[in-house]
Amino acid sequence: MSTVYLGVGSNQGDRLVFLRAAVECLEEEDGVTVVATSSVYRSEPVGLTDQPEFLNAVVVVDSTLSPRGLLELARRIEDSNGRRRRQRWGPRTLDVDILLIDGVEVDEPDLTVPHPGLTERRFVLEPMLEVDPDVSLPDGTPLREVLDGIGGGQAVWMEGGL
Ligand code: ADP
Ligand code: MG
Repeated sequence: MSTVYLGVGSNQGDRLVFLRAAVECLEEEDGVTVVATSSVYRSEPVGLTDQPEFLNAVVVVDSTLSPRGLLELARRIEDSNGRRRRQRWGPRTLDVDILLIDGVEVDEPDLTVPHPGLTERRFVLEPMLEVDPDVSLPDGTPLREVLDGIGGGQAVWMEGGL
């Protein structure tokens, strides 16, 4: 059993409904138990900046799935919520990312854990620390330190409950 931090994001359609649908899909899944959800955060897009604002949240689950099983589940949840794979970093109804699996590192062509963007993105660091102030990277670095280290930068606003 491992503790897994999933990032959910949406910037198309009824964004909050898509985030809630992701949590419902996770709740229904065998081998996955939702243990915490963060508030919803609003953030400016990264990468391709000329697109609507994102809503982001973090869902913590206990899971017996392998990292690859989690990736397949994430893709399945995206696909069943209208995600069309067109443009990298482009607009999407639902993005489900594996942010962190406690103590686990994966470095494969289509799967990198911890998620490569994790240590640069306020909109995932803030909700992760909201649900678990003591969360750290597999090498032991507390995410609190990582967040303090990235300073000002991108603005993130808390929007209320998921
Ligand atoms: P991003 O989430 O970076 O904006 P995408 O969702 O379009 O971009 O990413 C697509 C691919 O990223 C996925 O098909 C998956 O193979 C790969 N990927 C690599 N590491 C991860 C991870 N930790 N979580 C989710 N997807 C990942
Ligand atoms: Mg993704």
